[in-house]
Amino acid sequence: MTGRNPIEALAHLRHEFGEHGGVNMSIEASSTFTVMQPDTMPDMFKGLKGHEAGCYLYGRHFNPTVYNLGLQLAALEGTEAAYCTASGMAAISATVMALCESGDHIVASNTVYGGTYALLHDFLPARAGITTTFVDITDLDAVRNAITDRTRLVYTESIANPTLRVADIPRLAAIAHDAGKALVVDNTFSPLILSPVVLGADAVVHSITKFISGMSDVIAGAVCGTREFIESLMDLHQGPLMLLGPTMDPKVASKISLRIPHLPIRMAAHGERALALAERLDELDINVNYPGLGGHPDRRLFDQLRCPDYGYGGILTIDMGDLESANTLMEILQNKYRFGFMAVSLGYFDTLMSCSGSSTSSEMTDEDKGAAGISPGLVRMSVGYTGTLEQRWQQLYGALDDVGRVTRRRTA
Ligand code: PLP
Repeated sequence: MTGRNPIEALAHLRHEFGEHGGVNMSIEASSTFTVMQPDTMPDMFKGLKGHEAGCYLYGRHFNPTVYNLGLQLAALEGTEAAYCTASGMAAISATVMALCESGDHIVASNTVYGGTYALLHDFLPARAGITTTFVDITDLDAVRNAITDRTRLVYTESIANPTLRVADIPRLAAIAHDAGKALVVDNTFSPLILSPVVLGADAVVHSITKFISGMSDVIAGAVCGTREFIESLMDLHQGPLMLLGPTMDPKVASKISLRIPHLPIRMAAHGERALALAERLDELDINVNYPGLGGHPDRRLFDQLRCPDYGYGGILTIDMGDLESANTLMEILQNKYRFGFMAVSLGYFDTLMSCSGSSTSSEMTDEDKGAAGISPGLVRMSVGYTGTLEQRWQQLYGALDDVGRVTRRRTA
């Protein structure tokens, strides 16, 4: 644990009022900005520095509403700065493109979201000559040995999607830094729970689409890091945010900004519900994986790293062994019991269920899925907090009983 509680940092942040004194900040709905004096124009071309001078160039470069959301993200993550993007993939690709040039190399966890895998495995080698070696991120020797002179960064998810292995961020940071490389962490699964930069990482990326938004109604992302790094993303000649243009809409930034104050309550609720269900499933000898369970291989590590106020996250998996059984379970859960929805994505207030191997990890080769431990029958559940625990447990229990998986009863 870092000794830092992110909600204190958020509460400490200067409150942005609306233009007319509203309690909520205004939305800067302009794509371009005017100046009073022509000699102010050059200041507009300075990214965050221009912002300090009260000068804005153009909405793709910089928008004050998006910037203010970035301040909240930076407070959340304990970083000097942050800027928000149109998607999580935009945040990831901008970060990688900012750190790597053609011919460079990445060492990445072999268990990452399928889109990230495809970016590193397929897109970047073909389009940019940037190659990746995938390793088991919990095998620190493998990480160390995969680093070469050409390596620029080590990339991992804080909690791996969907195997739920927890990255040992302090040790990975030490390995990367000893070799003069950067550590980038995707913290989408564990906002508030883990603060990767405070634990030693150099930059954090988020799919805001998930827990931070919490309503499955927008696609959004963020990059958090040093001020210098965030400024480099907006550089007029080399900045991937400026030049590839994955800009966050200020209306989206306003929406998300209003949700950040509830994030701690939501994360705690997701975590509480997920832990309760995981413990009950475990008691029934269902093949459940959840990093809060005593038997999880990373539970002790997680306890050392996490902020204790927000639980162990909202994601659990049930391994049904084969795709057909997994599909049957999800169908019964959705259509007979109304337990949740068969849908990709996560962090919604209701439970979302998907079979990772044939959905969000389908970009991976069968060999790579096997190496990562993603079985065809793995059902990933993003546990929502609607309904009551007993109601949801009866639904889950009922569906597992229907498919013949309840072979013993709970004792209490
Ligand atoms: N990172 C993780 C861990 C994800 O699960 C996802 C999407 O599922 C992404 C990044 C990509 O985010 P987005 O869909 O917002 O582009």
